[in-house]
Amino acid sequence: MASSIKVLDNKCVGCKLCVKACPFGAITVEDKLARIDYSKCTLCGACFEACKFSAIEYKKDVSVTKDLSGYRDVWVFAEQTDGKIQSVTYELMGEGLKLAESLDMNLCAVLLGSGIQAKADDLIMRGARKVYIVDKKELAYFQDEPYAAVLIELVARYKPNILLCGATTIGRSLISRVAVSINAGLTADCTGLAIDLETKNLLQTRPAFGGNIMATIITPNHRPQMATVRHKVMKEAVVDVRHKGEVLVQEIAATALKSRTCRVRFDPESGATVNIAEADIIVAGGRGMQNAQNFSILRDLADVLGAGVGASRAAVDANWIKYAHQVGQTGKTVCPRIYFACGISGQIQHLAGISSVDIIIAINKDPSAPIFKMATYGIVGDLFKIVPLLTSEFRKVLKK
Ligand SMILES: Cc1cc2nc3c(=O)[nH]c(=O)nc-3n(C[C@H](O)[C@H](O)[C@H](O)COP(=O)(O)OP(=O)(O)OC[C@H]3O[C@@H](n4cnc5c(N)ncnc54)[C@H](O)[C@@H]3O)c2cc1C
Repeated sequence: MASSIKVLDNKCVGCKLCVKACPFGAITVEDKLARIDYSKCTLCGACFEACKFSAIEYKKDVSVTKDLSGYRDVWVFAEQTDGKIQSVTYELMGEGLKLAESLDMNLCAVLLGSGIQAKADDLIMRGARKVYIVDKKELAYFQDEPYAAVLIELVARYKPNILLCGATTIGRSLISRVAVSINAGLTADCTGLAIDLETKNLLQTRPAFGGNIMATIITPNHRPQMATVRHKVMKEAVVDVRHKGEVLVQEIAATALKSRTCRVRFDPESGATVNIAEADIIVAGGRGMQNAQNFSILRDLADVLGAGVGASRAAVDANWIKYAHQVGQTGKTVCPRIYFACGISGQIQHLAGISSVDIIIAINKDPSAPIFKMATYGIVGDLFKIVPLLTSEFRKVLKK
């Protein structure tokens, strides 16, 4: 039975409660009767719940509550570039292992690429019981169409319960295509994952409304339950050289490997000396830096400390530094041991990118700047005096 919804004219009083409740603007009231625009209606049922006069008849498709028990195991998409498995994969495996244990299921990894079979051992040592490998020259580098087609085929073949993927450029592009094709839900940029022990559903927690609330999302009617997680949000799975696992090399029809695009050339990003997503120490600057040239004082400090240089969006938007350095909600999530925030006020969107930092040192001339609420150490003063002093002191100390 398909879902359906209709207004019962003999009961409707034209009160407009349903109009207010509809998130999609699909209901209007004409001549004291509610009218549903079916081109906008998503059959979510919000109007049905809001109606106090039983004037809306809502029949929910019960077929969606189908038997999901055939879906087993927790899968991690193992992202690789030039045959090197990206560290976000190991972070997902650390979390995936906990989920698999809660569900009494296996942690499995999916590895696509060319000449990558030897990498299966790395995934097994990080806790994978099974590694599904598709090793084809067409998969040598990431391309949306063949990667998505292969993953869709593997999901159909083995029916995973949960599928996790890094919220990287590749992961975001790939997993949304897969989710749409297999009619599964997808929660992007999760900061927490857990299992509801009663229902066995995956609890997918992520910031919502600009980080003002944490929303926990479930996908009770569809499998696999799919989520992406940003780099550096979760702890890597530990290496256990004695851990044993199975390698399952998969054959795939040639049609799935076709792509309408190809890579013409690859230009590595220039200018970023230390990748801030991997850096142990970051020296970051914001609008308080005043111009692009002044970033040289941050680079001096970063050179002495072996640190990366980060920036707020205000500095990036002003073209003082490239986007690759942006930290925050629409930039990178970073997890260094030490983060210097110089001339950064600490707006919520910036703080979203540094929530896992061990030590934050804020330098700001405004003692009421919000960054001081989150900082481990705060220095109130002019960064143009303080940063060069720090550089020369660290230089002396670190030389010894
Ligand atoms: C949807 C959305 C997404 C966003 N994503 C991001 C994101 O990813 N990353 C991000 O950073 N922002 C993001 N923002 C923007 C964010 O809201 C702030 O506008 C931005 O972080 C402000 O940058 P700032 O702290 O450098 O600038 P400001 O807020 O202007 O702060 C500058 C600070 O410098 C201090 N200062 C000035 N001169 C000196 C001096 N000589 N010495 C010491 N201190 C000094 C000032 O006291 C002030 O506190 C986003 C916004 C939206 C709406």
